[in-house]
Amino acid sequence: MLESRNWIGGEWNTPTEGNLIVMNPSDLQEQVGVLHLSGKSDVLQAAQAARMAFSGWAGLPAPKRGEHILRLAVALEANLEELATLASREMGKPITEMKGEVIRGVNLLKYYAAEGVRSFGSVIPAYDTNILQYTKRVPLGVVGLITPWNFPVAIPIWKLAPALICGNTVVWKPAEYASLTATKMAEIFHFAGLPDGVLNLVIGKGSRIGDTLLEECDLNAVSFTGSTGTGLRVASACAKRNIKYQTEMGGKNAAVVLKDADLDKTVPAILSGAFRSAGQKCTATSRIIVEREIAPAFTEAMQKAVQSLNIRPALDPAAYLGPVASSSQFQSVMSYVQMAREEAQVIAECRQKVTESQGHYVYPLLVRGIESNHALVQEEIFGPLAVMLEADNYEHAVDLCNQSIFGLSASVFTRDLSNGLRFLDDAQAGMVRVNQETAGVEYQSPFGGMKMSSSHSREQGQAALDFYSDVKTCGISYT
Ligand code: NAD
Repeated sequence: MLESRNWIGGEWNTPTEGNLIVMNPSDLQEQVGVLHLSGKSDVLQAAQAARMAFSGWAGLPAPKRGEHILRLAVALEANLEELATLASREMGKPITEMKGEVIRGVNLLKYYAAEGVRSFGSVIPAYDTNILQYTKRVPLGVVGLITPWNFPVAIPIWKLAPALICGNTVVWKPAEYASLTATKMAEIFHFAGLPDGVLNLVIGKGSRIGDTLLEECDLNAVSFTGSTGTGLRVASACAKRNIKYQTEMGGKNAAVVLKDADLDKTVPAILSGAFRSAGQKCTATSRIIVEREIAPAFTEAMQKAVQSLNIRPALDPAAYLGPVASSSQFQSVMSYVQMAREEAQVIAECRQKVTESQGHYVYPLLVRGIESNHALVQEEIFGPLAVMLEADNYEHAVDLCNQSIFGLSASVFTRDLSNGLRFLDDAQAGMVRVNQETAGVEYQSPFGGMKMSSSHSREQGQAALDFYSDVKTCGISYT
């Protein structure tokens, strides 16, 4: 039986504020492990350990920090199979996708390890010839990382790696339903020789320990990914203390299909955006806006494609999608499925049943026939349920696309590059694409949203370095 543990100041310990049994969402007969939940004192201890480790870690030359991070990459890669399998069992992501996610984690670690030998500032001309004026990045201090369950490996790493290379130490609180995976990751990083206290893992419920972390711990910054409701609480708590924060939150991403789209390429991209990971990506396609002229052909193609999707237990390599992650996630998504069946018109449905195991399976569904202000069109569902809207023309399609409080990702499918380029300007989203699915942005590019999807900084790529560091402007007069 797997058990979660806290890793604080280089010591492993088991908190005693309660337990939670983790069942495999692909097979509810299988108990995957037990979570041991932390209380206030565990969180305070983790923040103290991070503070104590800070000067030593920040004082290491950046190339040496980079060497440490490279060792984490090598260790993670060596544990790819084991970690991916555990995460698939814990939160139900299909194993092929989960392996890809671990590889993304390895690539992120390599990318930020290399930042240790790149420029950390610039020389700026001064009006006086005898003045050297330059900038340099300095670490923020102790950073709190709060992460969701839907990318249990990649999201923590895309926060951790830039935080560490900039010289910060970290308190990490993963989501409950990714805590066995988080424990395994910390074990891998411990084995790889990450110095004590540089990363401190605290397992627990956000509702129980979140306030202690945000209000009582001596933190210099918080990076959060999760729902918009929780993100706004995090932002407010950090703003009151005037510490830096980053909140990456929900999405209601639109794929716009114009009348000249190549359906052979468009349909697979929309299927993948809407239904891979059972629709549980912040960048998942959940609104499909189709120009009226092409709607009948697109609907017919989607009907065939959705029916043939392979919904399987997460460890089956043939799974296109698996179950949703947990019973609460199942109940939440099923309430929208029921709403869709009662208030919308079903146009495509996967009827294939997973017979050999009882799990949190939600069958892919595509509906239409509702107004653009309907809850199914406006609220984040975070499951394999997408809605289709029809548009009169390009302008109407863009208008529908932008009728959302969210602004994370948006795509247009067209053969006309001039409309494609217009869309990149017109769509109100942080990530905009032509003939590509809404999900799946590469790690070396900035990642983040507009409107209620984000607090408007960016993660990944070079942009992450701006969040995890302060810039000092230095001047030296040498006459
Ligand atoms: P969630 O908001 O329920 O939880 C996220 C994290 O916050 C968890 O670790 C949770 O324990 C913690 N938390 C909960 N209450 C807290 C509190 N009061 N104080 C501090 N921390 C608290 O989100 P989730 O269900 O884990 O993840 C799904 C959501 O994440 C979706 O809305 C999805 O769109 C979003 N998401 C966004 C991105 C992005 O980059 N924009 C990426 C992935 C997921």
